[in-house]
Amino acid sequence: MRALILSTILLALIPLPAPAAPLIRVMLLDGESGGPYHKWQLVTPVLKKELEETGLFQVEVVTAPKAGEDFSNFKPDFSKYQVVVSNYDAANWPDTLKASFEQYIKAGGGLVTVHAADNSFGQWTEYNKMIGVGGWRGRDENSGALWYFKDGKLVSDNKPGKAGAHGRRVPYQLVTRDASHPIMKGLPAAWMHQGDELYNSLRGPGENMTVLATAFSDPANSGSGHDEPMLLITNYGKGRVFHTALGHDVNALSCVGFIVTLQRGTEWAATGKVTQKVPATFPSADTVSYRTDIAAMDPGYKSGLNPLDARPPAR
Ligand code: ZN
Repeated sequence: MRALILSTILLALIPLPAPAAPLIRVMLLDGESGGPYHKWQLVTPVLKKELEETGLFQVEVVTAPKAGEDFSNFKPDFSKYQVVVSNYDAANWPDTLKASFEQYIKAGGGLVTVHAADNSFGQWTEYNKMIGVGGWRGRDENSGALWYFKDGKLVSDNKPGKAGAHGRRVPYQLVTRDASHPIMKGLPAAWMHQGDELYNSLRGPGENMTVLATAFSDPANSGSGHDEPMLLITNYGKGRVFHTALGHDVNALSCVGFIVTLQRGTEWAATGKVTQKVPATFPSADTVSYRTDIAAMDPGYKSGLNPLDARPPAR
């Protein structure tokens, strides 16, 4: 009996493992992306894997109807999620759906836009405030100024013209512009991104916007000659938005720099904090770092090659 009591007391003294933190609920939104330009069906499983492998996120894919299809039954309950990650580029949404999304972000919902998601909804004023800057889909000087870095500072430029352009997909260097932001803490001052489109001449209201990293848009590759915003955040109401212009295709998504900034940016948009460590495999100022297990999620990938050398010819 004494032994039983003693063992009961001892058992009571053994600390229970801390309950695991609840997973961050993520809506991964897709359904179309800029006509033939983006293979969004290949991109969604990559984004899902990259988020879930952190152990922080529970990702649910929500696929919107395509343009011209019936939206009357598409009423996602945004409030079930802490953050919406968008792999989605469409022309427009019905007004009630737009209002529901605006209310969700204003009330503190998070948003992450990946690459062509900043092409989406060219004429939706509130969406353009959320993403800070965007390109294509009718955007021009009426959509807002050009925003880029000049002499180490973010400037706006009211020069008229269309919004959105890019050159061939080649590796390029990202330069950190706000090393103290939670998403950027511990990242190098400069790092090479795997071959990708480098968006230039994005336009928008730029309200409550902080640019975290830029890349030089080289005129030798159809560029603007400016240091263009590549990673940025905005605040919209109580909501936090992380906007990455990176990520044209699976090859680009295999870059460790893309993966880490997506994972960190999504955690920040959902919670306002970043708890993840920067891996030792993070790219350096002059060398790309990519994951072949991610590259191989594109059926066109040839095993053993740098995904950049295994991709179809650049447009
Ligand atoms: Zn693209």
